[in-house]
Amino acid sequence: MISRIDLRGGAVTDGTFDRDLLPRAELDVEAALEKVRPICEDVHHRGTAALIDYAEKFDGVTIERVRVAPEAIERALAELDPAVRAALEESIRRARIVHREQRRTDTTVTVVPGGTVTERWVPVERVGLYVPGGRAVYPSSVVMNVVPAQEAGVSSLAVSSPPQADFGGLPHPTILAACALLGVDEVYAAGGAQAIAMFAYGTEECRPAQLVTGPGNIWVAAAKRLLKGRIGIDAEAGPTEIAVLADDTADPAHVAADLISQAEHDPLAAAVLVTPSEALAAAVEEELKVQAPAAKHAEERILPALAGRQSAIVLVDDLDAGLAVVDAYAAEHLEIQTADASAVAARVRNAGAVFVGPYAPVSLGDYCAGSNHVLPTGGCACHSSGLSVQSFLRGIHVVDYSRDALAEVTHHVVTLAEAEDLPAHGAALKARFGWKVPGQSK
Ligand code: NAD
Repeated sequence: MISRIDLRGGAVTDGTFDRDLLPRAELDVEAALEKVRPICEDVHHRGTAALIDYAEKFDGVTIERVRVAPEAIERALAELDPAVRAALEESIRRARIVHREQRRTDTTVTVVPGGTVTERWVPVERVGLYVPGGRAVYPSSVVMNVVPAQEAGVSSLAVSSPPQADFGGLPHPTILAACALLGVDEVYAAGGAQAIAMFAYGTEECRPAQLVTGPGNIWVAAAKRLLKGRIGIDAEAGPTEIAVLADDTADPAHVAADLISQAEHDPLAAAVLVTPSEALAAAVEEELKVQAPAAKHAEERILPALAGRQSAIVLVDDLDAGLAVVDAYAAEHLEIQTADASAVAARVRNAGAVFVGPYAPVSLGDYCAGSNHVLPTGGCACHSSGLSVQSFLRGIHVVDYSRDALAEVTHHVVTLAEAEDLPAHGAALKARFGWKVPGQSK
């Protein structure tokens, strides 16, 4: 089922261990790029007609239009199970509490008397929000995309999610209902790379966006990498990963359940346990043997994900070595299930999100912790953050200098411009002072 990787023997602590030994999916986003390139070009040139063809090809459904009619969104909310509605409302409420606190205020710094630099935070005008819906459907990802965008003040929001054959070619009704709960009325039935291309290039039905965010499978990640620049992207949030750093104090049944919970997303999902405890490793293996085959999505997702080369139990000498391993791995989700978990968590440098102690499982963060579940994968957590209000803002520097403040620094600007052999730069300042450089005798 799940393999073991033995990193004991000092190599981790002295920093010489081979990082290629860490479990990671053979996720060839570069190879996927070549497959999504023609799809994106086709959407660029044929717009809606191409989206309709790809709905047929990849989602197995014939659709006549890609934009979802407002009545369908309203109907989905009217027909939503009250318990699901209450859970979504609680998820939205908690996400708002957290994301509202992430709003930034403009800051003005007085550099010299009469010379200020202000950083002004301005939301992106229009964003496309991708909500996955291939193997599983993710109304929770509507919440995780829309709440930070709204809290950032984005004025134009459009959601896209794959058309579902079981629902007449519309996105899943719970996704539509979540959009309605959040006041989003612009929704498209498009999935995969073609949805990212729709937002990047625009179509007859959909105005282009400046930024696209949201998680997805390898095709979505590849399209984001391909179209980055044409459109802004958040991090590459691809197939889910969970790493658990645990010692003897962890409950093996809980650790196994948490590993399975993320393996449930995708056969390419990664589940990794890092532990110095041989006894815990053995007990988790036993739990996985019992729990995994009994889970609903065992055959198509969980068992292949656990058996894949992206999943493993990694044995280390001690917790310090475990921390070095999880930092090198830079997991999307990292659980700390050790004695004094808060102190251990405080030492983590690389992770999309950290879940501390026995009562903060990743599933809580997937739905109702208040944190965001759109998080960087594939090691990107060493340089990128999860989705937040900040993802939807740009900081604009506003430079405001008086005549005296400019005069005071002109000789330095002219000197630096000449050092770079860009004399016209200096001349732009000299022209303002009758070509005589203030503060210089000649
Ligand atoms: P998806 O919506 O990402 O992808 C479905 C689409 O993929 C289809 O509509 C189709 O257009 C396209 N597709 C399928 N096969 C294709 C092919 N051969 N060539 C080109 N395109 C093809 O839904 P999914 O597949 O269920 O994947 C969701 C992913 O999102 C999972 O991997 C899950 O782990 C991940 N996820 C990640 C995060 C995160 O923050 N990192 C959060 C939630 C979900």
